[in-house]
Order: sequence, then C-alpha cells, then structure tokens
Amino acid sequence: MLHRRQQGGWIEVVTGVMFSGKSEELMRRVRRSLIAGRQVQVFKSHLDDRYRGRFQVSSHAGSGLEATPVSSSVEIAERIRGGVHVVAIDEAQFLDLGIVLVVNDLADRGVRVILSGTDMDFRGEPFGPIPHLLAIAEQVDKLHAICVRCGELATRNQRLIDGVPAPAEGPTIHVGGSESYEARCRRCHEVPPVLRDQTSLLDEATESQPGS
Ligand code: ADP
Ligand code: ZN
Repeated sequence: MLHRRQQGGWIEVVTGVMFSGKSEELMRRVRRSLIAGRQVQVFKSHLDDRYRGRFQVSSHAGSGLEATPVSSSVEIAERIRGGVHVVAIDEAQFLDLGIVLVVNDLADRGVRVILSGTDMDFRGEPFGPIPHLLAIAEQVDKLHAICVRCGELATRNQRLIDGVPAPAEGPTIHVGGSESYEARCRRCHEVPPVLRDQTSLLDEATESQPGS
C-alpha cells in the first residue's frame, strides 16, 4: 500500500471505519520502522477501551504492540524523545485539535508521523481532529471493513445500545458505556431520529387534544 521513498518529515493518516484494519496497518508500519533501525515512539488515546494491557495498541485481530496511553496532545508533545525518527498515534479521533499543531511541528522537524483514527462518528459526521489531519497529511489511506449486514464494503460506524441502533442525540464519545459498535455500509447504517422522552411526548399529546 505504501511506497515511501522520502526521508524527511511528513504525516501519514490511516483512516476509515472501525474494524477496517487501521490499528493493524499502523502496527505494520511501526514494525517495519523498527526493522529499519529507526527510533520509534507509539502513543494511543487513553479513551480507547480496547486496550488489554495499559500499554498496548491492540487490533481487533488480536495482535499487539507497546504504546503509551495519553489523554491530550500536550502530553504527546511533552513525551517526545530527542532523536526520535517515527511517531505513531493510534485512536487519534479522541484527541484534541492541538494534535494538528503537534504533528505539524514534528514533521517540520523531520519526524515521520503516522496517525490512525476513525474519520466519522456514529452519526456519520466528521470526528474530532481527523478532518484537519486528513487535510494537512502528505498521505491518506482510507480503509474499509465488511458490512456485517450485507457483506458490502463498510464505511460507517454503527452504534448499538442493547443491540438496537442508537439515536443521534447521544454523546459522540461514550466512555464506559454499554454500547457496542458494528461496521456497516451507507445503506445499512441506521441513525434513528432524535428520541424525546416519554413525558414530553405525553405532554404534547395532551396539549394537542381539542378542548384541553
Ligand atoms: P481498526 O483499528 O480499524 O478498528 P483493527 O486493526 O483493530 O481495525 O482490526 C481489524 C481486524 O478486525 C480485521 O483484520 C478482522 O480480523 C477483524 N474484523 C472484525 N470484524 C470485521 C468486519 N466487520 N470487517 C472487517 N474486519 C473485521
Ligand atoms: Zn450493508
């Protein structure tokens, strides 16, 4: 996929739906950098609930790699070691917009930066800093998963709560929730209209009754 000959700093983004192999691809690139004898640092957002060990970038296929969990872009900037050649950042959608400045600065200083993150939230809208990172990156790879409904290429993150498609009104980042995610294509992706609570629906029904 990657035909990289350039030696200077630059930014690569691996994006796409969940389960599309972004973490696997990030790990593949990191392993090859290590084989090439480069100094590598790997970070990931601490918000990712998938990590088994605290310091693992883990893929849905089960392979892992040591990573430092971080909660902000400043934390990444503070932890960069002198002489590093490659900086990889997994689950970048959870990071603040400051990451754009941090990775631009690293690339200007000659570092190869590899980021991965999902580009859309569960509603199908752009997610966090990813759109900005796509714009400034030298290279973008958009990966697809398989739609669990129809077997076509999946591009959307389907949020399910108790197995049912979640309405658009929920928070974009749902930490420690009971929800789950599926990869789905555009046609099978479902975001039900905003659910209002039962009391306000009842109020409306009463108000609209003639003579009330
Ligand atoms: P991402 O980082 O994009 O969420 P991962 O690299 O963690 O993806 O996991 C990719 C792996 O997930 C695939 O190699 C495959 O084994 C597995 N997988 C599970 N569900 C699906 C799916 N619906 N489509 C494609 N791969 C899937
Ligand atoms: Zn589908």
